[in-house]
Amino acid sequence: MKKHLFNSIVLAVAVLAGCMSKPTPAPQPKAPPAPQHTGLGYTDTPMLPSGKWHVHDPARPIPPVVTPGATFSDAAPPPSDAIVLFDGQDLSHWLGDKGKPQWRVQDGYMEIVPHSGYIHTREQFGDCQLHLEWAEPAVAAGDSQDRGNSGVFLQGIYEVQILDNYDNPTYADGLCGGLYGQSPPLANACKKPGEWQSYDIVFQTARFGEDHKLIRPASVTVFQNGVLLHHKQALLGPTGWRILANYNKQTPARGPIALQDHGNPVRFRNIWIRNIAEEEAP
Ligand code: MG
Repeated sequence: MKKHLFNSIVLAVAVLAGCMSKPTPAPQPKAPPAPQHTGLGYTDTPMLPSGKWHVHDPARPIPPVVTPGATFSDAAPPPSDAIVLFDGQDLSHWLGDKGKPQWRVQDGYMEIVPHSGYIHTREQFGDCQLHLEWAEPAVAAGDSQDRGNSGVFLQGIYEVQILDNYDNPTYADGLCGGLYGQSPPLANACKKPGEWQSYDIVFQTARFGEDHKLIRPASVTVFQNGVLLHHKQALLGPTGWRILANYNKQTPARGPIALQDHGNPVRFRNIWIRNIAEEEAP
């Protein structure tokens, strides 16, 4: 008898609960989570293949400051076989995102007109030696990634960061001379804002075999103001913000040299390039 009463109570509660339950709402599309910006970097980004650091990891060690020689590569004339991409006179070797480049040319340098777009060379390059000089705005404005941000893109896809990191901290793989989002520079060799600085870069393209299978990644050696920042450093793939870079079937083997408009009026001068005979990949 008692068992019968218990079963009746359970049934009554179940019926009551069924009457009170609300219809299941249709699933709503979720807004993507906002990027988690922690201090000077991010912690919700993919892990790099080393397994130690996130992309733009705020905890990644910062390289030492090295004071470069005062006049290193200061308007040095190009070697005889160089292709001069910018001699201070005009932008005839360059194209803008929307046709004619809008950057300003005066007094022997070009200056980014903020938000007018990237510029890139008309010509495409593979393995090469590249020299360029740049100057950050003399009056420092903004901080971290917002101070004097530009960049030189090898093949138009691999960014060597340009940033005013003179007394301006940021995450390690976003520092001036960093292979953006991948490899911090070995040193912070930044000069003061307004001073001319130089990059000397040796670049090797990625090699692809049958079916565009990667045989060897692209690699780069970089000097800033005569200070070594990277030595034959392999690239994980085209660089980008908050992404884990990789190679795919669309990754080209050649491309233009591009300069970034990140909204800051960085200046450039004395840009030249030498093609390097491409050896076979092993
Ligand atoms: Mg940049």
